[in-house]
Amino acid sequence: MTKLSNAKNTIAVVSQHDFDFRKRFGQNFLIDEGVILRALEAAGVNKNDVIFEIGPGIGTLTQYLCEAAYRVAAIEIDRKLIPILEETLKEYDNVRIINQDVLKTDLLELAAEYEAGREDRPSAKHALKIVANLPYYITTPILMGLFRQKVPAQSVTVMVQKEVADRMTAQPGGKDYGSLSIAVQYYSRPRIVEIVPPESFVPRPKVTSAVVTMDLYEEPPVKPVDDNLFIAITRAAFEQRRKTLVNALGSNSSVPYGKDSIREALEKMGLSPSVRGEALSPEEFIRLSDLLKSSESKTE
Ligand code: SAM
Repeated sequence: MTKLSNAKNTIAVVSQHDFDFRKRFGQNFLIDEGVILRALEAAGVNKNDVIFEIGPGIGTLTQYLCEAAYRVAAIEIDRKLIPILEETLKEYDNVRIINQDVLKTDLLELAAEYEAGREDRPSAKHALKIVANLPYYITTPILMGLFRQKVPAQSVTVMVQKEVADRMTAQPGGKDYGSLSIAVQYYSRPRIVEIVPPESFVPRPKVTSAVVTMDLYEEPPVKPVDDNLFIAITRAAFEQRRKTLVNALGSNSSVPYGKDSIREALEKMGLSPSVRGEALSPEEFIRLSDLLKSSESKTE
């Protein structure tokens, strides 16, 4: 099969099948072989790997994954793309096309079917890696779903909007730092592999993109006593990021602690009562969450 990673072949396949790009599914197909090869290298894809690809489109990235990996499961929501994928991937016997919404797919069960997980777990015969050019409109729900379900992947390598990549990798203090930075850095070690211009896609997106690789921790290095409280606190801290932490958390209904408890916890941490969320590192948010957990819930 000829590779689809250029504009000419992509447009030929799309028009042969009378396919109309659907904006609502975030369909921007890659036409840049260099970007694909560097993403595969960053993910370290090899013949022991089972790859879950989210949103294969017409199968451009999938072709390279099939050649480099042991097995590929490609989850695509758009049923109009399924006959195209069956055609463009027909020479590979190691790929399974799943016509489903990834947000409704049980990835833990799928990983178990392939006996795939982290290489350092005795139950895993194959390393599980996630590689995708993500549909940008659901980047955060997809990433949070992977993290919170504890999908046993070693790494997640994804194309996202550059602005989102900046937020994922941001350090405390800057304008990009927020609840996404904290969640991503709590579950993984992220790094930006490459900035990708709109010309690398058909049709061209309005935004610049970036490939990000996240090496997932088997166990986060520092863990809060209560995961859900930690996530609720980080969300509340940045929902109104210009407020002080005391006001932002104290007035948020998903954080069951009053302003006095929050002030007291900050004091124990040696932080000013007027500190804002953007100044705290992920570890400090964990400590804050643990201190609040061990204090009295607000009763008012
Ligand atoms: N991987 C292809 C490539 O790089 O050329 C296509 C990437 S395109 C940015 C995103 C793909 O995700 C589209 O094929 C779209 O139909 C699919 N998609 C959108 N929402 C989805 C969902 N909820 N579950 C699975 N696939 C989805």
